[in-house]
Amino acid sequence: MAIIEVSGLKKSYGTLDVLKRITFDVSKNDVVAVIGPSGSGKSTMLRSLVHLEEVNGGTIRVAGEDLVRDGVYSKPQEIKRITAKMGMVFQHFNLFPHLTVQENLELAPRLVKGESSEALRRRSSELLEKVGLTGRAAAYPAKLSGGQKQRVAIARALMMNPEILLFDEPTSALDPELTGEVLQVMKSLAEEHMTMIVVTHEMGFAREVASRVLFMDNGEIIESGPPEQLFGSPQHERTKAFLGRSY
Ligand code: ADP
Ligand code: MG
Repeated sequence: MAIIEVSGLKKSYGTLDVLKRITFDVSKNDVVAVIGPSGSGKSTMLRSLVHLEEVNGGTIRVAGEDLVRDGVYSKPQEIKRITAKMGMVFQHFNLFPHLTVQENLELAPRLVKGESSEALRRRSSELLEKVGLTGRAAAYPAKLSGGQKQRVAIARALMMNPEILLFDEPTSALDPELTGEVLQVMKSLAEEHMTMIVVTHEMGFAREVASRVLFMDNGEIIESGPPEQLFGSPQHERTKAFLGRSY
């Protein structure tokens, strides 16, 4: 079953066409890695899915509902409900610095879902355990390493029970020795069949964990396939050139 269906997605900034008729689907339990050079439109594509950017044309359907159809957006209430099915993890964590780890986790579900304090407490401690941060509930983000901050951001996204998690270069701001702990958490989510789209430069992760890889260049999906195919026998010159560069 397709959770995300994207077709003919177009986005321009002035005369710059950033997304040129992007089309792809994501099925339940898929882990889709999106790779490609800087400026190819990966972040714009991801941000469009959660309505942080508005597209100029095309269709995005989430769990069978239209976020935008042929360039026409659904009503604000619908958009809110549809985008709530997705969680997003950013390169720069985007934690609230004046809130503790636990408050970061509980804020959105408290406001949006009005869950009880006990239910939130139970869930936030379970999720902190899942990302290996038991005991850090009372810490402020400034006291955490980059890897810990990103694991908090993942737990915070999971608090909303999303059907799909989107990651935009989640390890690109981290020192190399902290990258592994974040990738490990993502890998364990994949093993629990979380549906994910991951924009990444971590080719090892894409190869090992992704069920499918999309290669983007210059606003287009040039090539997609299972990792063994895309990395093992890329078909397009641009894919070959990019992979040649990143190994
Ligand atoms: P990637 O994530 O693959 O590096 P982006 O989606 O961030 O690519 O950017 C794609 C292109 O869109 C780049 O040429 C970038 O400069 C341009 N771009 C992104 N955001 C804006 C913006 N707000 N205004 C103008 N151009 C933008
Ligand atoms: Mg980007």
